[in-house]
Amino acid sequence: MPLKTPKEYLDSIKKEVNLYIFGEKVKKFWKHPIIRPSINTVMKIYELAQMKEYKDIMTTTSHLTGDIINRFTHIHQSVDDLIKKVKMLRLLGQQTACCFQRCVGFDTANALYSVTYEMDKKNKTNYHERFIKYWLEVQNQDLMVDGAMTDSKGDRGKRPNNQPDPDAYLHVVDESDDGIVVRGAKIHQTGFLNSHRAIIMPTLSLRKGEEEYAISFGVNTNEKGITQVYGRQSCDTRKMEENKLDIGNFKYGGQEIFVIFEDVFIPNDQIFMKGEIKFSGELVNRFAGFHRQSYGGCKVGVGDVLIGATALIAQYNGVEKASHIKDKLVEMIHLNETIFSCGIACSSLGFKRDAGNYEMDMLLANVCKQNVTRFPYEISRLAEDIAGGIICTMPSEADFNSDEIGPLVKKYLSTCNGVSVENRYKVLRFIENLSLGVAAVSYKTESMHGAGSPQAQRIMIARQAGLEKKIKLIKNILDIK
Ligand code: SF4
Ligand code: FE
Repeated sequence: MPLKTPKEYLDSIKKEVNLYIFGEKVKKFWKHPIIRPSINTVMKIYELAQMKEYKDIMTTTSHLTGDIINRFTHIHQSVDDLIKKVKMLRLLGQQTACCFQRCVGFDTANALYSVTYEMDKKNKTNYHERFIKYWLEVQNQDLMVDGAMTDSKGDRGKRPNNQPDPDAYLHVVDESDDGIVVRGAKIHQTGFLNSHRAIIMPTLSLRKGEEEYAISFGVNTNEKGITQVYGRQSCDTRKMEENKLDIGNFKYGGQEIFVIFEDVFIPNDQIFMKGEIKFSGELVNRFAGFHRQSYGGCKVGVGDVLIGATALIAQYNGVEKASHIKDKLVEMIHLNETIFSCGIACSSLGFKRDAGNYEMDMLLANVCKQNVTRFPYEISRLAEDIAGGIICTMPSEADFNSDEIGPLVKKYLSTCNGVSVENRYKVLRFIENLSLGVAAVSYKTESMHGAGSPQAQRIMIARQAGLEKKIKLIKNILDIK
């Protein structure tokens, strides 16, 4: 059975990579205190997949081999698969309270599966077979794969082929019988460092004359020519301090990487699109659709933990019975479950592509993500409201535990009889972390911009909505010819 244990996963990523953090090269990145929580998060995925109670949700049967595989390497074969994906992501959000990074490659694979099939049908290429061969290795070795889409984009007012710097969009700079050489950068890369492989896609729908940018390929994350620069996040250096409580979520975390490709060679058997401009937009849209569906699970799971933390702090503060507190908690739950409803709805209306795999409903996936660009902000606002301003003004853990000042800090941070002042400190820091610290990257900024910024969904909603049909409806009722 190709299921890696958490330890096997950890051992398998212990490789030399060209990585920088704070301007310095990092060796043994898995030991770095800022990076380690993001690895713990991925290990949790491998851990849950080993557990009997999560078997149905975390694993499934490969349609390619008939083996039991981790669901993160699965190509959806039914509506039930689409629904279980969303439930799995909620579960992982609940268990880690952050971005667990493995969904990007999962969503890329499901988009590429049907797009490569359709390209081959139209152009008599053999991308689909190539991709299946590549993905079989992923399934059989239970590999973590990142999906890389966002280019650095240079001047936003100009097309890729009119940029002052042609590398502003990743492109082919050389070609031989054996493969291609690519140059450019992919930024905001969730989990790239923690992944074994990455699949690169174009950022946008490309036009005639932009063929060199219409490329998709698989690459090892430590391939020669790839440089990774670790993304700076708010309050990240708290992870380097001796005290752990000030971190908030001290076990788990996300990871964002700035990835630079300096003349990286890609052999032919790892290329899944090369110059097919007409299919570039479809690949972008299908990937984005799958990832917008994903947010209907992962952010809901994180929301569950934040709602739990808020209810707990209300108890610790002795205000849990106040009617406005109860009502605010209900509002948080309502918003969170609305996101989940969208995730389940776009999965339930999933359909079968010609390639045989299942895809979510595009309109509802975009509605889902549009809500995600708003509701976590409101949920987080209500959490801050209930927790109180103390989340931003509280002394450090060093003061809290100081022999000199600690007793007085604890005295004045104490609330109700029977409530541990240390537990209250922990929960307040957790809420601070998720609302304003490192974890806010996963819960808020990523909710806003991950899988496309709000306007990208509005464009898709406008395209999918069928406004003309709605106009016909009213004309029918009012006999307007
Ligand atoms: Fe997965 Fe959510 Fe992170 Fe995207 S933001 S990689 S869907 S956990
Ligand atoms: Fe993301």
